[in-house]
Amino acid sequence: MALLGAKTFQNYIGGERMDASSGGTFESTSPANGDSIGTFPLSKAEDVDQAVAAAEAAYEEWRLVPAPKRGEVLFRFGQLLIDQKEDLSQLMTREMGKVIAEARGDVQEAIDMAFYMGGEGRRLFGQTTPSELRDKFQMSVRTPIGVVGVITPWNFPVAIPSWKMLPALVCGNTVVFKPATDTPLLGERFVELLTEAGVPPGVVNIVHGGGGAVGEALVRHPDVRVITLTGSRETGVQVLKAAADGLKHVHLELGGKNAIIVMDDADLDLAVEGITWSAFGTSGQRCTAASRVIAHAAVYDELAAKLVRSAERMRLGVGWEDDTDVGPVINRRALEKIHSYTEIGKDEGAKLLTGGEIASGDGLSDGFYYRPTIFGDVDPEMRVAQEEIFGPTTALIRVSSVEEAVRAANGVKYGLSSSIFTRDVNKAFRAMRDLDTGITYINAGTIGAEVHLPFGGTKDTGNGHREAGQAALDVFTEWKSIYVDYSGRLQKAQIDTSS
Ligand code: NAD
Repeated sequence: MALLGAKTFQNYIGGERMDASSGGTFESTSPANGDSIGTFPLSKAEDVDQAVAAAEAAYEEWRLVPAPKRGEVLFRFGQLLIDQKEDLSQLMTREMGKVIAEARGDVQEAIDMAFYMGGEGRRLFGQTTPSELRDKFQMSVRTPIGVVGVITPWNFPVAIPSWKMLPALVCGNTVVFKPATDTPLLGERFVELLTEAGVPPGVVNIVHGGGGAVGEALVRHPDVRVITLTGSRETGVQVLKAAADGLKHVHLELGGKNAIIVMDDADLDLAVEGITWSAFGTSGQRCTAASRVIAHAAVYDELAAKLVRSAERMRLGVGWEDDTDVGPVINRRALEKIHSYTEIGKDEGAKLLTGGEIASGDGLSDGFYYRPTIFGDVDPEMRVAQEEIFGPTTALIRVSSVEEAVRAANGVKYGLSSSIFTRDVNKAFRAMRDLDTGITYINAGTIGAEVHLPFGGTKDTGNGHREAGQAALDVFTEWKSIYVDYSGRLQKAQIDTSS
């Protein structure tokens, strides 16, 4: 595969490749087997300053490029992603571990976003309304904001940058991008392809490095008007505080503790399939992962037994082998955190039904593999039912009514995704109304968002914004209301009431 070979990479600022000003570097390694993926600049605030200056300079021209032309760049980018889909997917399964079918899905999501947002170049709709005065015209238009700081996690290393950068660009903003230090090469490839698609120098810049140095410098930089971050709740709070003095626009997509409700009338086999996919796909490292299963008492035992069988059938291994169901988790720290929650669950009195151990042997010892883990008899207040574990662990909770199920589902600080399996349309509609999450699925798991609907969550999952769909445009534009008076006299709104 052309992309591997453990090369040394640089930042890309104002159309130029350059090392970090300090000369420092860090290495990206595969969580699957420890292979080196590449060496990247360990940047600092000075590098961020340079990148922001380049983005600021490029903004003056980019904002004036007609939006349909900006959209055409995204169409070309979408086509390049199609051409490179297999290479990018192979790289992804190596750099961050997800299995190859899911890696292809990750790239496909960026392709979908490129074409959706490319089309936005010919929409970016505003409103026209009648005036209360004669001979007066009025409308609202979206205007770009300026330099956008894009800070992303490693778990959707192509899809998430596309959710942020593509709407930012079509709206006429310029970007400084800081990808996660676990997936710098995918960030690099993303920017290379944008450049190949025709994004001019300075419009997209990439600065590699850690959250504390590069991320925080970006958030605090006075010339960065918008920060869009996907990450943990803790990082979101830090970013919001750091951005407060500059009164920045801050868009946060944070954690989840998503629940699947299984009612007594559910199709249990379908539910088991949905839970297995949602709880253990991407090794449970999705913000929308189902880390709780809330089951009606009448089906609890049968569901638990079927789920355990399903989890135990899953094959762990490197993601690029077609018969692998569960790849590695991202790094040693994550592996240790996931395992610590197994100990916490046991100490709290939850019953470990399967898994609960670091997997080794059969070629797994060089990577970070954790067995799919299911806890039974979980009380909704236990830490394993409240805190984001971000690994292949799910907690089974027993309830006796749909009301109790919804109460348990809502009884966490996060509000990203939720789901209910039921054949009763009344229960389904009650759940659609009452589940306090940004996304709800009926008779499907907690994952499966499409790019043309808003994506994001309530409560501590974010700060009221949404990614994707039309909602994304609100993050990357300001509204301007324009009044044109062609009466030839000074008409006064609210005062000249007789016209
Ligand atoms: P993280 O919060 O550790 O890091 C996210 C990004 O923020 C990284 O690029 C990191 O370097 C940067 N960062 C860290 N500290 C920073 C600071 N003080 N200032 C600026 N930037 C900083 O998260 P992660 O481990 O990479 O990703 C997992 C988390 O992301 C989980 O909580 C998951 O739920 C969440 N997530 C949410 C969504 C969503 O759409 N809601 C999607 C995917 C992941």
